[in-house]
Amino acid sequence: MESITHNLTAVLIQILCFNIFFNPLNIIFTIIFAFFSHFLSDAFSKISYHTPEAMKNDAFWITWHIIIYSASIITVVIFFIPFWLSIFSVNLPDIIDWFILRPIKNKKKRENPEGIIKKNYSVHQVSDWIRNKLLFWLPDLTYKKYGIITELLMVGMLSFLIYLFI
Ligand SMILES: [Zn+2]
Repeated sequence: MESITHNLTAVLIQILCFNIFFNPLNIIFTIIFAFFSHFLSDAFSKISYHTPEAMKNDAFWITWHIIIYSASIITVVIFFIPFWLSIFSVNLPDIIDWFILRPIKNKKKRENPEGIIKKNYSVHQVSDWIRNKLLFWLPDLTYKKYGIITELLMVGMLSFLIYLFI
């Protein structure tokens, strides 16, 4: 899903963990649940408009991404204090893949352009596994523009729950 959905899920997880558990379990479970929620949300991205490649010639794609990225930044600003820990944890899989594993993979490729890279340099394979093994029955709306409705519903539902619990 988009970053805003990850962030709102993380905020909700932190609220619930801090209501249910005592120190230090509240912190530990916030980190663990927020981190793993990322994979679950990404597995569900199949039922939202989520093209793997940037479609820079498509006005709809551009407009949607301007809106959803701005909204993501706004959630980080609004919730950073006191939810920075869960927001950091939920974004950790993307940070690991983009800033650690991908550069390692690219370096290996540069050193050995002919070689086949056997190792899967991506923690997102967890999402792929969930999507293929458990969510295979869901419709694929990756390229369907109306798939933004799924994302909007998720954002609406999470915002409402946060509003209820906060
Ligand atoms: Zn991700």
